[in-house]
Amino acid sequence: MKKPDPNNIPGIFNYCNRWCERCPFSDRCTLYQQEQEEWPDEDADMNEDSFWDKLKGNLENSIEMLQELAEEQGIDLNEVTAEEQEEAYHEMQVNELMVNINPLTALANSYLDNCLAWVKNQEIWESLHMHIQLQASGKINELEAIRDESMEVIRWYMTMIPSKIHVALSSKEEADFWDQYPIQERHYNGVAKLVKVCVQESKEAWDQLSELFIQVPVQVSTALQLLTAIEEQVSEQFPDADQFIRPGFDW
Ligand code: SF4
Repeated sequence: MKKPDPNNIPGIFNYCNRWCERCPFSDRCTLYQQEQEEWPDEDADMNEDSFWDKLKGNLENSIEMLQELAEEQGIDLNEVTAEEQEEAYHEMQVNELMVNINPLTALANSYLDNCLAWVKNQEIWESLHMHIQLQASGKINELEAIRDESMEVIRWYMTMIPSKIHVALSSKEEADFWDQYPIQERHYNGVAKLVKVCVQESKEAWDQLSELFIQVPVQVSTALQLLTAIEEQVSEQFPDADQFIRPGFDW
């Protein structure tokens, strides 16, 4: 495995929005550099042997890293008994159940459903297009740019919000482990802080989009209400999230 650049920011990719094209730290991110090196062509062909060779190499690297991590923690993966495996599996299922019944999960799923319905609402898009075309010619480009940028942001975060909420809640179910660490280093606080950033940026995008309409469509106001509810729940369930220091982004 290639050694990372010493100028890189360790672990920055754990608490970022994965929007590498817009990231000010891509030149200091090991994950970005690794992906550029291994997958320079975004349209890599799955029918090519080289695609599967690279994937195999990545999996081998991941297993190697997992083994190193286990060794660091004093765990010999070869010595895990069937009973311990069963116990770990049971614990995982209980954690998953707790995450699924958490009200944040329902809110996040409703938000995604609302976004998907919005994205597919052809009627609204056509009427917005007509409305923009009726504006003074000098304004059309500006309004189209606002529409496109808002939608790009909404699309980017609409799946990330539910997936990161899932990660934060799952990690909090392992609080016994994370609570050995100071508040500002607990994984669930870092992910919850990232969720707050994604929610804030999405809210700004919906606000911008709403200004393009004469009458705000119901899906826009629903999206904003759901995001506010998500924000409140995250603050309630992760009261220390703001204290987490995200490498690179918060220092
Ligand atoms: S830190 Fe930046 S470059 Fe690295 S994975 Fe995240 S968004 Fe991409």
